[in-house]
Amino acid sequence: MSSIKGLNPVRNFINGEWLSAEHYQTIPLFNPSTGEVIGSVPMSTPDISNQAVKAAAEAYPAWSATPLPKRMDYIFKIVTAMQENLEQLAYSVALDQGKHISEARGEVSRVIEIVQMTCSVPTLLQGETIQGIANNINGRVIKAPLGVFCGVAPFNFPALVFGWFIPVAIATGNTFVYKPSSESPLFMQEMMKLLIDMGLPSGVVNIVHGDRSVVEAWYDNEDVAGVCLVGSTPTAKAIAQGCGRTGKKTMLLGGAKNFLIAMEDAPMDLLIENILMSGYGAAGQRCLAVSNIAVVPEIYDEFVERLLEASKKITLGDAMDADIFMGPVISSSAKERILNYIDIGQEEGATLALDGRNPRLPTENRDGYFIGPTIFTDVTPGMRIANEEIFGPVLSILKVGCINSALQMIRDHDMGNGACIFTQNSYYTEKFINDADVGMIGVNVGICAPHPYLPFGGIKGSLVGNNKVQGKDAVDFFTQNKTATVRVVNPKGNDATLTKPADTSVRSCVAD
Ligand code: NAD
Repeated sequence: MSSIKGLNPVRNFINGEWLSAEHYQTIPLFNPSTGEVIGSVPMSTPDISNQAVKAAAEAYPAWSATPLPKRMDYIFKIVTAMQENLEQLAYSVALDQGKHISEARGEVSRVIEIVQMTCSVPTLLQGETIQGIANNINGRVIKAPLGVFCGVAPFNFPALVFGWFIPVAIATGNTFVYKPSSESPLFMQEMMKLLIDMGLPSGVVNIVHGDRSVVEAWYDNEDVAGVCLVGSTPTAKAIAQGCGRTGKKTMLLGGAKNFLIAMEDAPMDLLIENILMSGYGAAGQRCLAVSNIAVVPEIYDEFVERLLEASKKITLGDAMDADIFMGPVISSSAKERILNYIDIGQEEGATLALDGRNPRLPTENRDGYFIGPTIFTDVTPGMRIANEEIFGPVLSILKVGCINSALQMIRDHDMGNGACIFTQNSYYTEKFINDADVGMIGVNVGICAPHPYLPFGGIKGSLVGNNKVQGKDAVDFFTQNKTATVRVVNPKGNDATLTKPADTSVRSCVAD
């Protein structure tokens, strides 16, 4: 694999070819750890977007007719290629996304697990049959591919979202057009090189970079069977509207605002350790980042003191520096947005117990986009900082009287991605699992991403529509069920069982 150190002219990849970037307008790609320009990203026109769909549509007949074991060979090869190139792939994630290199390794490793799960597609694709619906008649359900799927990624998980969409879509016989985020395109550039090296046929996976106009071109394109997104809720709703107009299938994972509930018997060391990982990992830019922490009065003071003490020790610096804990946020505009929320919190009357606005940084990172751990106490549910997705390392601490009030706060919130409780009490545990109005629940684990064998996705405003990624749910999304009713007729007409008259006491369409 070639080096991605130095300048990276990111390119579109259509029908087996890297397209020269000279025909497009481009925007600069930044290293958020330093503020330096490290590449350029094409802003493709709707025409280019449709060219990619055409390539995928042309590749579809041969790809969907490729025997399943041969398609699965590529999925096995993806696992091996990712294992062998883990360092380079992690580097590509950390470089333009700014995620700490050890977290980037973790993201790529999780994708390998997802692709390993995708190796079970042949089992999950097995349909159903039922014999003896009537004399000589059986019924069968088969799972068939649909054609071209298109996928749209957010900036914060460039590897993970590839893993959620592309392996399962192509294993089930579809072809794909992918639009990475123009803020973190390097992982897919590197991953595509691996797909090319393993001989994936032209047109099966295509990449188009750009903004929303690339996506909007798909809505009226008759060759597009479905669109999937991981992104913010307004984007999910816009795509649902565009695709709804033309009846395309969608799988749309949206934004989040996640609650952690700390009860009086919370194991304190575990609680603090999980909040540091969940709140400050990826600088708070995770859809499963903890954001609102509701704490009961019995442990409130001790908890705030312990969290402040631990948060003050968080070190910031270059995403590639193994010795620091937290990297930058994605861009200067993201930094501005988060700083604005800190102002809003103060104006709303919350107490700024830890101010991350001017963190200590290594000299070479002074132009990077850094915000240190920030903690508000005295937060109440009506405040904007408790309601809106800040997407940065900012925690809000709310005092809550009992588990019922905590559950009510979660219920009252528009979003429903993840929530967790820290307790050793089985009554609280079971009540929380039953009553927490979110899609992904954790008990004594920080806001937790379900393992790839299980569905991943929120509810309420965090999911537009019903489809979730991972596991059997993903296979269902990328396939359509077809039901066949088959009467077996002996062409020689001399088989006694086949000439038995139909039972006419029950008149149904198959028995007539
Ligand atoms: P975003 O919604 O701004 O952009 C996501 C992608 O959609 C980008 O590729 C962008 O170019 C494209 N896009 C933006 N506006 C569009 C429009 N109107 N029509 C079509 N496409 C459009 O999100 P982001 O800032 O890149 O990512 C952060 C968001 O993603 C957060 O809200 C976060 O919670 C969410 N997220 C959710 C999950 C999840 O599993 N639910 C996972 C990761 C991120």
